[in-house]
Amino acid sequence: MPPVAHAPDAPLAPVVVHDRGAARLVAGHPWVYRSDVVVPPARAGFAPVVDRRGRPLGQAAVHPTSQIAVRLMHAGDDPVDAALLAARLDAALDLRAALARDPDAGMDGVTGYRCVHAEADGLPGLVVDRLGPVLVVQSGCAALEPHLPALVARLVERLAPEGVLGRFDAKVRALEGLPTDVALLHGRVPEAVEVHDGVLAWRVEPHAGQKTGAFLDQRLNHRRLATAARTYAAPGFRALDAFAYHGGFGLHLLRAGAAAVELVDASAAALEAARAAAARNALPEPTCTRADAFERLRALDRAGARFEAISVDPPALAKRARDLERAAAGYKELNLRALRLLAPGGVLGTSSCSAHLQEAEFLNVLADAAADAGRTVHVLGRWGAAPDHPERLGFPESRYLKFVLLRAVD
Ligand code: SAH
Repeated sequence: MPPVAHAPDAPLAPVVVHDRGAARLVAGHPWVYRSDVVVPPARAGFAPVVDRRGRPLGQAAVHPTSQIAVRLMHAGDDPVDAALLAARLDAALDLRAALARDPDAGMDGVTGYRCVHAEADGLPGLVVDRLGPVLVVQSGCAALEPHLPALVARLVERLAPEGVLGRFDAKVRALEGLPTDVALLHGRVPEAVEVHDGVLAWRVEPHAGQKTGAFLDQRLNHRRLATAARTYAAPGFRALDAFAYHGGFGLHLLRAGAAAVELVDASAAALEAARAAAARNALPEPTCTRADAFERLRALDRAGARFEAISVDPPALAKRARDLERAAAGYKELNLRALRLLAPGGVLGTSSCSAHLQEAEFLNVLADAAADAGRTVHVLGRWGAAPDHPERLGFPESRYLKFVLLRAVD
């Protein structure tokens, strides 16, 4: 039989990158885009990376056709192997164990948190969320895919979950030629699990919920908006949670003493879960409005509504760099409406999870919106995702979430 041209474990030849790609890697960014590659790999896998003069740049997860052609693992000469990946996973889990001991990390009583945050934890495209008794895995890097069984076995050994679910249904997987499905990887994963955020409890559906079932990154920001409302608004204040999902912001505002909270989301299932969570936590019932939040904010503005506390937390409006201008217009529109709806002295927690929109640009958009709304606004604070979603310096994609807490001065 003739030898197979590229048997899965045949070592890959070095991938050659243009000067621009090499400069990015040297500057600490782990990615090189397809357009900056001179000689692509024959298949997905781990391979050495060199510049056009053959100088070694390190070892990377590489892909022949994906836009993200190179994801650098380290700058050394040692090939990437199962032991290295296991060590990366261990380090990620050790970090979460340390966070549990860190009084500033807000992990007390938290049973929903991110165990692995992809590139920021040195494991490209791999996300692992703990949702109470189970783990939910997402993977978007073809080179890592053959190693998933070993990584899942390690997760089971270290965290002893009841079950592990692979949410391999994200569209990004298609960009790496990976199949999209949902797969049980270990044990048993019930239709719904209870997830505690340290203050309130939610029923989360790992199979059917958005992304891994829950958005765990806003956990501490929910508390921050609630604390600001409790501090600055009179008891019995009115609140609006736009793009609510399970009502993370709105339910914390109810707990902080809101007399009425309106949750707005396009998803009926998300609102149903939010309503159930309010009951489960013995909170007053929120008003749930299934609507396009852009339209709802416009309608509330036209009707002259006022709120003392507002959250605006849309999905990423700039999914790609070239969407940036249109996305900025979207953020401006949402925040202009929200600021017009804000009662004097009211607080607005406004978020952007577009990795392509840097914090400085987001603040410019907010300043524009405040000027157009004719409001004088204080910035009470600026934060990112909870610390179980670590930010890797030099990799702005890991600082995707911006949360800005504003207060209308008058
Ligand atoms: N605020 C939530 C997370 C929101 S995720 C938290 O803190 O946990 C974004 C939400 O926006 C999703 O629930 C999604 O269903 C909803 N969504 C997306 N597009 C929308 C639109 N145009 N109008 C209203 N909701 C929308």
